Amino acid sequence: MAEEASSASLDFVRQIVTNDKESGKWQGRTCTRFPPEPNGYLHIGHAKSICLNFGLAKEFGGKCNLRFDDTNPTKEEQEYVDSIKADISWLGWEWGESELYASNYFEQLYEWAVVLIRKGLAYVDDQSAAEIREKRGTLKEPGLESPCRERSVEENLDLFARMKSGEFPDGSRVLRAKIDMASPNLNMRDPVMYRILHANHHRTGTTWSIYPMYDWAHGQSDALEGVTHSICTLEFQDHRPLYDWFINELELDHHPQQIEFARLNVTHTITSKRKLLALVKEGFVRGWDDPRMPTVSALRRRGFTPLSVRNFCERIGVARRDNMVEFQLLEHCLREDLNKSAQRRMAVMNPLKVIITNFPEGTVEELSAINNPEDESAGSRVVPFTKELYIERDDFMEDPPKKFFRLAPGREVRLRYAFFITCNEAIKNDAGEVIALHCTYDPETRGGNARDGRKVKATMHWVSAEKALDAEVRLYEHLFAVEDPAAISEDEDWRDSLNPDSLVVNNNCKLEPSLGEASPGDRFQFERIGYFACDPDSTPGKPVFNRAVTLKDSWSKIAKKS
Ligand code: ATP
Ligand code: MG
Repeated sequence: MAEEASSASLDFVRQIVTNDKESGKWQGRTCTRFPPEPNGYLHIGHAKSICLNFGLAKEFGGKCNLRFDDTNPTKEEQEYVDSIKADISWLGWEWGESELYASNYFEQLYEWAVVLIRKGLAYVDDQSAAEIREKRGTLKEPGLESPCRERSVEENLDLFARMKSGEFPDGSRVLRAKIDMASPNLNMRDPVMYRILHANHHRTGTTWSIYPMYDWAHGQSDALEGVTHSICTLEFQDHRPLYDWFINELELDHHPQQIEFARLNVTHTITSKRKLLALVKEGFVRGWDDPRMPTVSALRRRGFTPLSVRNFCERIGVARRDNMVEFQLLEHCLREDLNKSAQRRMAVMNPLKVIITNFPEGTVEELSAINNPEDESAGSRVVPFTKELYIERDDFMEDPPKKFFRLAPGREVRLRYAFFITCNEAIKNDAGEVIALHCTYDPETRGGNARDGRKVKATMHWVSAEKALDAEVRLYEHLFAVEDPAAISEDEDWRDSLNPDSLVVNNNCKLEPSLGEASPGDRFQFERIGYFACDPDSTPGKPVFNRAVTLKDSWSKIAKKS
């Protein structure tokens, strides 16, 4: 944890906050904020920002505000506000009393806009959005000044008040800051501060007919809240001079320090809310929490733990250089956590029937299985052994190659927690496919060890055919077939790069009966297969499980190579 980290290994943000604390810069105070726009669900990139902002507040004895940047009523909804709160809580962070909204400050922002108009630093522009965009110029050419730029203060005050009172139609006028149309920084070329929008806002209803632009609202909201370190992603670096200009011209007492860090990109996925919304709206996924999505709610549904996501965010660190993180690292963090915390169960994905010919019909042997070898306190459970069982089809080969040690004709193997069995005959259908195995068991090997000390080379999982539960299991692969879908050029349709096999549904799984007690959200290791989470789609007769992650850790290998 960062709390234990020596100052030598602090990331650059923590270094700045440490220095400020030591120099007494903000009277030793640390206040951060996480400022989501409630126009979508949170994704793994947001988790990085959440862990950074809430983490700093915790480590430095400060506080972190949750501030909804709700300046765009047409795209924002209460559903998103609720999901954002649920996700942050699930990750384990608390904002206490500090559930704040930029819309709380609409009145104050309006008054400050009037201050700038009075100073001759803001004007009402009658040009359309398209005209404004056209005349903004380029990186090489300066912009063109608006014909409305020299309006008198009186006229501007009058027009702005009438914009507010709802007199003008949407898009007919805007309020702009009067800065410099020739500035090399495009953000300084008379940026729009307010637009007219007759829309219903999820909090302020129809009170307002004008809405502040993000760039106008953001810095002042931070200042109002006494935020000390306003941490954002790199693309806002070029906006900083504008935020500074506003606060300086308004002569505010408190001037937060903005710090930019690199956003998180994860292979085979996207973190653009616009594209994630398109995936949902266009039906490419089943919703924001479809376990293939990179959203926090999807990770939760898939079986990720809060700790695994927090550990991931800690491991990737905070830097100023853009980077791409392997999805496998996220999976690795989950495996690490679930290996310690998840109970083991047996489940057969691709069943092949085994008939124990020397086992009495109608009898059930109750065997004891360990719940978690990593955690003695997890105890044990009973698994029923019956005459007919299922094993994995892959665990049998009629004509095995040299290195195949599992079941084959004439061979003895161990069934986990149960007995040694020997295969005597493979039963086939007319097409020559193996449909069942006739085996015998050795009652002297109860519990999985032979009294005479003889060994077997394989231990396999199994379930009782008579007692098994039928289940649907959903297997997930990467959502995108390409490694960096964010890099797909605008001329191409990024949807074409979706992985058609990102979801494989297996309707023919057999689970050990104790899994009938699982509730949605419960996570298990299915022995030899992977980690699975019970899905809310489960019904009493038919459990549904999501594969959270396979057992095999490809990340360790990648990490070793590099
Ligand atoms: P947009 O503004 O385009 O809707 P956004 O991803 O910036 O999308 P916000 O709700 O504004 O969404 O983000 C809230 C906070 O999360 C911001 O401070 C932003 O910098 C941070 N954030 C967003 N995406 C990432 C990412 N991929 N990595 C790290 N931080 C991110
Ligand atoms: Mg944003």
